Amino acid sequence: MHIAIGGLQHETNTFTALQTSLDDFQVAEGDEMLRIPPAVQDTSLQGIIEVCREEGIDIVPTLFGHALPSGTITKDAYENLKGRLLAGIRKADRLDAVVLGMHGSMYVEGIGDADGDLLASLRELVGPVVPIVCALDLHATITEQMIANANAFVGYRTAPHVDKVATGRKACELAIRAMQESLELCTEWVSVPVIISGEQSETRLPPTSEIIKELVHMPEVGDVISSSIFLGFPWADVPYSCVSAVAVTSKANMSVGKREAKRLAQHIWDKRDEFVFTTEAYDLDKCLDIAEGEKSSPVIIADCGDNPTAGSSEDLSNVLDVLIRRSFRNALVAVIVDKGSYEKCLEAGANRYVELELGRVNPTEEEPRGLPIRAYVERIGTGKGIPSAVLKIDDITAIVTAGRTDVYDPQFLEDLGLDPLDYKVIIVKSGYLSPEYQALTKRPMLALTPGDTNPLLETIPYKKVKRPIYPVDKDFEWTMEA
Ligand SMILES: [Zn+2]
Repeated sequence: MHIAIGGLQHETNTFTALQTSLDDFQVAEGDEMLRIPPAVQDTSLQGIIEVCREEGIDIVPTLFGHALPSGTITKDAYENLKGRLLAGIRKADRLDAVVLGMHGSMYVEGIGDADGDLLASLRELVGPVVPIVCALDLHATITEQMIANANAFVGYRTAPHVDKVATGRKACELAIRAMQESLELCTEWVSVPVIISGEQSETRLPPTSEIIKELVHMPEVGDVISSSIFLGFPWADVPYSCVSAVAVTSKANMSVGKREAKRLAQHIWDKRDEFVFTTEAYDLDKCLDIAEGEKSSPVIIADCGDNPTAGSSEDLSNVLDVLIRRSFRNALVAVIVDKGSYEKCLEAGANRYVELELGRVNPTEEEPRGLPIRAYVERIGTGKGIPSAVLKIDDITAIVTAGRTDVYDPQFLEDLGLDPLDYKVIIVKSGYLSPEYQALTKRPMLALTPGDTNPLLETIPYKKVKRPIYPVDKDFEWTMEA
């Protein structure tokens, strides 16, 4: 049995001015993929490879690439990666199935829905018979074009995502089962006019946890072979923005799939006003007031408006500005991306004072303006490979980096010689906290700050999103098509 594997993963934020280019992608190509290099580790593709190996499948490796969430992908970058992926497919002498590890919210200049575009090109190449199965992120935005060009989708069921590898395994198992039992896989889909952020749908809490409990995957008996929900991605202004329910069946049981997708979709719609912030969430000043009075430490506050894991630029210094104005004691800000300021620190060296115009102090201004500060350079180093400077401004520590990074792993701080337990409050550029940060604090909070990942979805000035959509619009009825 010959299975082609690969995928392109990107969660595209259309509000940020940052474009995503080829250099931003971590790529593994051809046989290199099978060695599970860093680009493949802890991704759905790793799970796909594991199952192929366990089942003695002849693997046709194509290309797998992913980038930290960021702005619209340039057409050149996408066409390059897509071309290499398809070239890998063309090389196959024999092909029984294609299994991909995708995200499902990728947006490309001049194309828009790039997941749909890639699947359409792939379908054209492999013909109508070869099954195409995709593992997707829970925050995928499903489109007509995606549904029309793949047989089956399997989504993560956790946020924070701790089942990426497991989901890749499921997608691959589904494809193998379809071939063994000669099942023609079909996906029934219902799109629900709702937008939800990840911060309102962590899977440890209802209503998301309850809906996920109803999902199936390869039951012993049952006509629905696999079902998933996809929560969409609210920081993309696209006409197909939605939350989705899907059910995978064999072609003979499509009506059962439709019924199940509708049932899950109705459940999501009925619970729409229960998707509230799953962690305590307030404006920044209230978060800081609470942190000052909190006995346990560190209090960890997510700067939700500038969350790089949802594609923001990570260069906002507005939170540091507020901390300085409040003369806050014993706080750590991780991080502010500003290459120019980092270079100034590097030039000055450690144990020196520098004058900086740091980051971008007002996210709503067209002309970016830095925060003027005099800071002591405590250390120059690298955090998880990113060149960084540790600054001290009064009793506030701030990390300035030369490039964007997710701050999911506290190892980043430790690499820079910082112990998270030394601080009263740590402010991280994040949405919902990673399991590692959650484990460090008794008092996690979300600060509802402005920026490209503004968590107050009803205040986002969408122009292209199809209306009405909840919660931007509240007073409307929705009935599913028959
Ligand atoms: Zn996600």
